[in-house]
Amino acid sequence: MRVALPHMGNLYIAFKAAFGRLGVEYIVPPRITRRTMSLAVKYSPEGLCIPFKLTLGNLIEVAELGADTLLMPGGYGTCRLGYYARVQEQILLDMGYNIEMVQMGVSEQKFLGLLRMVKRLANDAPWPQIISAVRFGIKKLSAVDRVERVVQKVRAVEIEKGTANRLYTRAIEAIDEAEDSHALREAEADYTLRLGRVAVDPGACPLIVGVTGEFYVLLEPFSNLDVESELGKLGVEVRRTTFISEWTKFSMFLNPLGIDEKEKIHRAALPYLKRDIGGDGWESIGEKVLHSGEYDGLVHLAPFTCMPEVIARNIMPRTRENLPVLTIICDEQIAKTGMLTRLEAFVDLLERKRRVGNTNKQRVAV
Ligand code: SF4
Repeated sequence: MRVALPHMGNLYIAFKAAFGRLGVEYIVPPRITRRTMSLAVKYSPEGLCIPFKLTLGNLIEVAELGADTLLMPGGYGTCRLGYYARVQEQILLDMGYNIEMVQMGVSEQKFLGLLRMVKRLANDAPWPQIISAVRFGIKKLSAVDRVERVVQKVRAVEIEKGTANRLYTRAIEAIDEAEDSHALREAEADYTLRLGRVAVDPGACPLIVGVTGEFYVLLEPFSNLDVESELGKLGVEVRRTTFISEWTKFSMFLNPLGIDEKEKIHRAALPYLKRDIGGDGWESIGEKVLHSGEYDGLVHLAPFTCMPEVIARNIMPRTRENLPVLTIICDEQIAKTGMLTRLEAFVDLLERKRRVGNTNKQRVAV
């Protein structure tokens, strides 16, 4: 059995670590590239969203490498993502790949569902071994996310642009290669220290821009043309709403215990939208409302044809909270040059807004 999961940011690190400890052969798919996109567009129904297309393209690539047991999230909810695994399975079978698609029903069975799935794939290994392997995978994810938060801050103020990104790439490799918890702690501490030593502009007061939107396009840099890094190059500190380790912690463990991390954000969105509309649309609106006094602007990532984000996009300009929002539609037509031009214009606007705001404050003080 050769197990694989399509890429979504750094999620593969956790699965590779957990399956590695259980002796299951896990194949890391090739990084998502233009080739993935070409395969995706060729074999996907045209009107589907970019998460469907890129995961399908990546599944084809990993099936080419010999993976025969493919994992995909699935389950209930108002988003059509729950049905994607079955459609993708049929496409892959029609293409002649001899694969089994395993749906990770995490939305229904939470942590227990994940453990059961891992147990089945690990040839019925004993429970303590399963739990320890999964815990190790989650620890790695948490380390990656903590390092990433530091990178988001350093990128905005570093003197030599690209230094934080280079360290981040090496940190990911070190965390991925860590064989036990001790090595993992050392790798995280080492790279956090190195990032802390990056030469930064002491007088910099970076703009703070939130990045929100649909889960997949938030977490997979290829799908958003690495918008966070591009904002960092423009001297912007990014605050992303979703990190995979936090999502795992709440969705798998805390939500079933009645702890809802999104309650505050849903309450903020209530004056404009009274109910969940699927995907992450409700949260996107809440983010704008909740952080209007804290951020200078918000980048909203919305996959083309994603109904929840289309609804959010149409509601956002009507909120009383006056936070500039730049919506970027993510699909196969998105081009880097166009996105960079829009980002530069957006950052110019935010800088001007801040300057004007500061001048007005000084006038009031006089
Ligand atoms: S939330 Fe939107 S983009 Fe994400 S899977 Fe559902 S329909 Fe597609």
